[in-house]
Amino acid sequence: MTISLSATELENLDRRHVIHPHQRPDRQDRRVMVRGQGSTVWDAAGRDFLDALGGGIWVAQVGHGRTELAEAAKEQSLSLAHFTTFFEYTNDKAARLAGRLAALAPDHINRMYFTNSGSEGVDTAIKLARLYHHHRGESSRTWILARHYGYHGSSYGSGTATGIPDMQAAVGPNLPNVEKLMPPYAYRAEFYGGQDVTDFLIAELTATIERIGAENIAAMIGEPVLGGGGVIAPPADYWPRVREVLSKHGILLIADEVITAFGRTGAWFDSAQRGMQPDLIVTAKGLTSGYQPLGAVLMSDAIGETVPAIGGSFFHGHTYAGHPVACAVALANLDIIESEGLLDRSLKIGAGFRSGLAAAADLPTVGDVRVEGATVGIELVTDKATRESLPPDLALAVADELYYNHGILTRNYGATLVLSPPLVFTDEETARTSAALTEVLARVDIEGC
Ligand code: PLP
Repeated sequence: MTISLSATELENLDRRHVIHPHQRPDRQDRRVMVRGQGSTVWDAAGRDFLDALGGGIWVAQVGHGRTELAEAAKEQSLSLAHFTTFFEYTNDKAARLAGRLAALAPDHINRMYFTNSGSEGVDTAIKLARLYHHHRGESSRTWILARHYGYHGSSYGSGTATGIPDMQAAVGPNLPNVEKLMPPYAYRAEFYGGQDVTDFLIAELTATIERIGAENIAAMIGEPVLGGGGVIAPPADYWPRVREVLSKHGILLIADEVITAFGRTGAWFDSAQRGMQPDLIVTAKGLTSGYQPLGAVLMSDAIGETVPAIGGSFFHGHTYAGHPVACAVALANLDIIESEGLLDRSLKIGAGFRSGLAAAADLPTVGDVRVEGATVGIELVTDKATRESLPPDLALAVADELYYNHGILTRNYGATLVLSPPLVFTDEETARTSAALTEVLARVDIEGC
């Protein structure tokens, strides 16, 4: 029997008992969401919100309340709720999903390992890269190159690769042998001392490889477009040139596509449209649109054939790897993305935001508007000329204003406001979000929100 609780009782229960990811002690309000349909969610008090964040955190590709996904979960739960993929066991949905992903991935990628989250996927990819070299007789290759502003998760491995120092603070030794490089952040030209961004970064990469020694480096990891860092897309020549340098030195490339895969930026895999040619692709979030926790690490044939075959076994495993209910939901989710043309829709949403936010881009506190498919980053500044960042708390106040007074969900990552709506966001919803943002941003320096 479920006892019905008021919105206030739920908030109090949560405040008393739940520790939230990335929780700030000074933020004591609670936003208890109870229902969703399309791009709208409702809280426990019955108030509706336009979810311009895709389930709060770059997830809900096909939108909320899809009966197809609920039916897929129900049907699979009734036929076989769980069976492991450890050892030689498998289940039909894991096998089918792996085949489906192999067909969508670049030709040299045909094998995958299933996880429950992006962080597990990044840890798995780091291990696979090191194991690959080990089994080929290059055990000294343990270093991982990552980037400042990158976000890769919060386990020890993925958290160390993440370019946010808070993630590594006060938890004892992090993963050893991880080196951070600069990100390709064209708006912050000052980072590169007047040099071309890619030239600077290639010189930095080359010098780093020389310093550490190519024979000690396993892989470089990067998001094709930095997500949590503020929706930062690289110059077109960045990934092809990085790939060239890495290949020359036998270093693997891991594309962290936890945000970008499955249509978020208009492609099944964003790495394919940026010339990354990765050896490993880490996915999660949009794989099930958040209806089940599931991720997949896709690997090149070279890695897939080396690690389990030469190594004898891949001594790594999660109880729920290839969970049949999650895989059944992922298959139904991919069906919807395909049949409803959501990759194209993602690009159309982006075009809508580009025009909808044109007036906002001229406001004195808006430094840069970055649109990559259905993903938007609006970098806020105190001064357009000096590009000094707006204090993050003011950016948070903008998101709060949109939440409380416009019923629209957005969020700030530092001084950058981020949108990642479901790929079913309508033209009207795009226009409404753009108008509300423009109105609130226009008041930032007048009222300080
Ligand atoms: N990689 C990227 C690019 C992410 O954005 C995230 C989470 O936001 C992760 C990895 C970690 O995924 P998870 O939170 O599912 O562990």
